Amino acid sequence: MKIEEISTPCYVIDEKKLINNLEILQDIEKQTGAHVLLAQKCFAGFFEYDLIRQYISGVTASGYYEARLGYEEMVCPALSSGCDKIPQNHIFAPAYKQEDLLKIAKICDHIIFNSKEQLIRGQKIINQVSEETGRTISIGIRVNPECKTGNEHEMYDPCAPKSRMGIRACDIDDEILDLIDGIHFHTLCEQNADALQITLEAIEEKCGSYLNKLKWINMGGGHHITRDDYDRELLIRLVNGIKEKYNVAVYLEPGEAVALNAGYLVSEVLDIVHNDMDIAILDASAACHMPDVLEVPYTPGIIGAGAIGEKKHTYRLAGNTCLSGDIIGDYSFDEPLKIGDKLIFEDMAIYSFVKNNTFNGIGLPSIAVMDADKNCKIIRDFGYEDFKGRLG
Ligand SMILES: *Cc1c(COP(=O)(O)O)cnc(C)c1O
Repeated sequence: MKIEEISTPCYVIDEKKLINNLEILQDIEKQTGAHVLLAQKCFAGFFEYDLIRQYISGVTASGYYEARLGYEEMVCPALSSGCDKIPQNHIFAPAYKQEDLLKIAKICDHIIFNSKEQLIRGQKIINQVSEETGRTISIGIRVNPECKTGNEHEMYDPCAPKSRMGIRACDIDDEILDLIDGIHFHTLCEQNADALQITLEAIEEKCGSYLNKLKWINMGGGHHITRDDYDRELLIRLVNGIKEKYNVAVYLEPGEAVALNAGYLVSEVLDIVHNDMDIAILDASAACHMPDVLEVPYTPGIIGAGAIGEKKHTYRLAGNTCLSGDIIGDYSFDEPLKIGDKLIFEDMAIYSFVKNNTFNGIGLPSIAVMDADKNCKIIRDFGYEDFKGRLG
């Protein structure tokens, strides 16, 4: 089946693009010895984990269910097939529920805490599980280097004043240092290696006195490594520099860079209405199926469409929900749109199906995979039961 033949709405994962990204990330691993982990909160397409496992070192999670998904779908298949390299399963959360931590300690290799209190409480549980199971679990703490490098809104800035994300470097004491193997920072968002360079300077300035006592440094996500203009040579120099200077292992946990431009959302025009301009109502919704369009906000690309005024026919594209602001954006097209036309939104593998919802009783888009020959296969369809099942 070709992408135009798919019944809509449907997310389509582009395996060729995914592999391109994975090859770049694998090359970073080879040239630096750093471990690259997929941040599952961005792309939890576990149907691709058999592929992803061949290129990078593992996964990281933001909560128990993601950690369990990583264990079941990334780690266990490697264990049972006698794979010589077992993928790693890491987790960071702002706070852990005690009962979750007991389960997390049985399936995660690195557990990263957000505060001294969480670290001290969590470490006791981890020791208990370690004794029972004989597993070694590496413990870390998230540091806030108080170094803003992007121009994001506070909503997306973990270094903003009064941030709850991570412990400030000035609050790290000997008691904490005794309990941890490594530090984690995550302050970047869709940024280039120059932002990492600035952040590492802040980390060295603020944490330099103890970096050589650590086993590892986890540099978080937000590195747009697979973007065309990303300075990969600088990344390689920075990672190698830190590794050699402090004798530490380095982890990078990109989400976006793994699946950047590796997916689409295929939708169909349901109606065209007129109110000072032409407005096409689609079977895909910003509110339900691409929430970042409203949250960030941004206007996603569409194959064959231009910005407003660029082509002859201009339309506002909007979703099929009650929310007046369920507007995807204004676009222009060479030909007038017709009811039944298919529109293909670009870069829809990341932060899309992991965040969608069934608001208004709108169905979830199905999920398909497109192979290198551009043949698509539906791997999951959703129905009424998926809507009802989480309501009661
Ligand atoms: C969001 C997040 C990531 C992934 O970020 P991307 O911007 O998708 O690369 C990695 N680590 C942590 C702790 C995060 O919160």
